Amino acid sequence: MNEAAAGTAPALDVTTIRAEFPILARTVHGRPLLFLDSAASSQKPRRVVEELRRFYYEDYANIHRGVYELSQRASELHDQSRRAVQRFLGARDWREIVFVRSTTEAINLVAWSFVRPRLAPGDEILVTEMEHHANIVPWQIVAAERGARVVAAPITEAGELDLAALRERLGPRTRFVAVTWVSNVLGTVNPVAELVRLAHEAGVPILIDAAQAVPHLPVDVARLGCDFLAFSGHKTYGPTGVGVLYGRLEHLEAMPPWQGGGDMIDRVSFAGTSFAEPPFRFEAGTPDIADIVALREALAFLEELGRARVAAHEAALVARLEARLGALAGVRLLGRPRERASAVAFTVEGVHHQDLGTLLDLEGVCIRTGHHCAMPLHARLGLAGSARASVAVYNTLEEIDRFADILERTIATLRG
Ligand code: PLP
Repeated sequence: MNEAAAGTAPALDVTTIRAEFPILARTVHGRPLLFLDSAASSQKPRRVVEELRRFYYEDYANIHRGVYELSQRASELHDQSRRAVQRFLGARDWREIVFVRSTTEAINLVAWSFVRPRLAPGDEILVTEMEHHANIVPWQIVAAERGARVVAAPITEAGELDLAALRERLGPRTRFVAVTWVSNVLGTVNPVAELVRLAHEAGVPILIDAAQAVPHLPVDVARLGCDFLAFSGHKTYGPTGVGVLYGRLEHLEAMPPWQGGGDMIDRVSFAGTSFAEPPFRFEAGTPDIADIVALREALAFLEELGRARVAAHEAALVARLEARLGALAGVRLLGRPRERASAVAFTVEGVHHQDLGTLLDLEGVCIRTGHHCAMPLHARLGLAGSARASVAVYNTLEEIDRFADILERTIATLRG
């Protein structure tokens, strides 16, 4: 299959890639599955599922507890996964990688442990209008408690960040900046290196929500220089139940724990408790061991394909999506960002997105409809919701064409 994307990267062999995802061969309502909702959660390659099975059948035990061989082996695999994430993100030190449940939990950890103690009445946390609720609500909760507030930098009509306005909002009261790398609705790729520079020039630490970036773009946190970065395993071809917080070591070392329990302590007595060093200080209780172990396979899958090649392939898919959907009568694409990754959201004149999603499902098409956990963004656009197609490395140009054809037919049916 020749799907060489714009650019110099050689084409990926998508037929071989698809064979690694058995679910893609199934039918839905008697139609071939056309999965265009990877921004919500990606499908899993065989090697991830097989590693889960293998681990439970052959190496499973609780970690960091037993002196026996099996526990040591499970602990070793868990540790190897942390080092794999470290390499994958380009972090300098394995202690900068904290395993959590998800992007949501990673952001909550930073909100409670890093930002909350630094907030005083009148302080501000700067986000943007295009954030997922996971990068809004945790800040609102800690801000409300401390008399601080969350301020949103606006977006332009094209659906890009308004950098001039963001600079203005980055003032003496700003204590923290939290920005998405890629919008889960508009697909806009934000200039995160520039945002890190702006935040640091103002003396403010910055968190990058990379939930929609890590599956699609090369990431190097040491080069980026961000203070924190979060992503979810389940959007990155990995299992559910595991996410990652990257935090600069000097920050993690200075942060108090946010949950107490086993595995995060140094010594415990009724007179008082001292805590373990990072990252263990932030990993109370038995972690999601098997999913953490299997996450390594998901990252290896992406690395072996080549992250630049994955990005190039997906750029071609997104360009085709924009071209085909943009040419359909009554279809309005949300935003026209210069750089877009994975997601293209749209509305159809005279058609409710929920009706559209329901009829498309009958054709075997999975897309997301609703507010996509971005109500403030939809309010800014004057919408209650939209439809969103999002691609991953296993999608093909032929699928995009098929989707556009089905969409056109479905719109005609709904309009009667
Ligand atoms: N941030 C962005 C940009 C997202 O798209 C999502 C999920 O869609 C999240 C955060 C939350 O991810 P999770 O539900 O895995 O915690």
